[in-house]
Amino acid sequence: MSDNIFHAFLERRRTLTALKQGREQGRGQARGQARTAAVRVCPKCGRPAAKTALYLCSACGYHYSMPARERLDRLFDPPDGGEPTHQKTLFEDIAPCNPLSFPGYGDKIAELQAKTGLNDAFHCREGSVSGGRIIALALEPSFMMGSMGGAVGEAVTRAFERAEARDLPVVIFSASGGARMQEGMFSLMQMAKTSAAVRSFSDSGGLYISVMTNPTTGGVTASFASLGDIILAEPGALIGFAGPRVIEQTIGAKLPEDFQRAERQLERGFIDAVVPRAELRAAISRLLRLHKKAPLHRSLHTDDREIKHEIKKEASE
Ligand SMILES: [Zn+2]
Repeated sequence: MSDNIFHAFLERRRTLTALKQGREQGRGQARGQARTAAVRVCPKCGRPAAKTALYLCSACGYHYSMPARERLDRLFDPPDGGEPTHQKTLFEDIAPCNPLSFPGYGDKIAELQAKTGLNDAFHCREGSVSGGRIIALALEPSFMMGSMGGAVGEAVTRAFERAEARDLPVVIFSASGGARMQEGMFSLMQMAKTSAAVRSFSDSGGLYISVMTNPTTGGVTASFASLGDIILAEPGALIGFAGPRVIEQTIGAKLPEDFQRAERQLERGFIDAVVPRAELRAAISRLLRLHKKAPLHRSLHTDDREIKHEIKKEASE
C-alpha cells in the first residue's frame, strides 16, 4: 500500500476524532447530570437511567452492548455446588498479525489487548448449557467493534472444526462492524473461510445457533452470522450489510426508522426470532434440548433427489 493511502487513512481518522469530540461536547447538560448521578443517558429513550446487570436501560430496556466474557458467563451453567462445570476457554493461542504493516494497527491491538484481556475480538469456550456440552463464541464489541480479521476468522473456523469432530452444537453471539479494514484482503477472505467451515459442520449434521446482537453488519452478516440453522436476534439490534447512513447517502432517500432493525428483519424473514436478553439463555437451552431429542439428519442438507432415493431404498427393504 502506498504512503498516499496511509496518509488518507490518517487524515480520515483525524477528521472522525474531531467530529466525535464535537458531538460529545454537544451532548451537553443531560450527560453532565447523568455523570454526576453515576447513570448514563440512554441512546433510545434519552433519559438518564441506570444500566442493569444485563446491560439494559433500567427505564426502557434498551440493550447496550455486552462484553464477550459476560455473555458466555451468563450462557453456561453456573458452578453446581462447588462442582466445576468443566468450562474450557479455547483458542487463546490465536493472536492477530499485521499483514499489511498498517500504521498504528499494532499499537492499537496492544492497547486493546491490555484493556480487554483478550487477544483479539473474540472469546470462545466449551462447556455445558442445561447439562449438554456445546461450544460458544462471542465477539467482543469493545475490541475494534468486534471486527473480523485473521484471528477472529481463525477462531470461528476452529470452533466449527472442533464442534464437528466432537459432535457438539455451536452458539455464536455476533456484535460486529464487519471485516477489519486494517487487514485488507486478509480480513475479506475470512468470510469465505468461516462460511466453508459452517458448511462442513452443517453437512455433518451439527446444530448452529447464531445470535445477532447490536450491531451485526458487514462481512460478519455476509458470512457466518447469517448461516445459522436458527438465527436469533436481540431487540432493536441493527442487522445489515452497509449501514443506514451509507445507504441513505447512496440512494438519496430517507429510510424508515426501523430500517435494518431486528424486528423488521424478522418481518422480512431474515431472522427466526427476536429474543430479549433476559430470555436468551432459556431460549437457547430449549433449542439445544430439542436438538438433542431430534438431531438434524444429514439428509436435510443434501440434494432432494438423494433424499427421495434414500426413502425409496428404505421402503423397498
Ligand atoms: Zn432507555
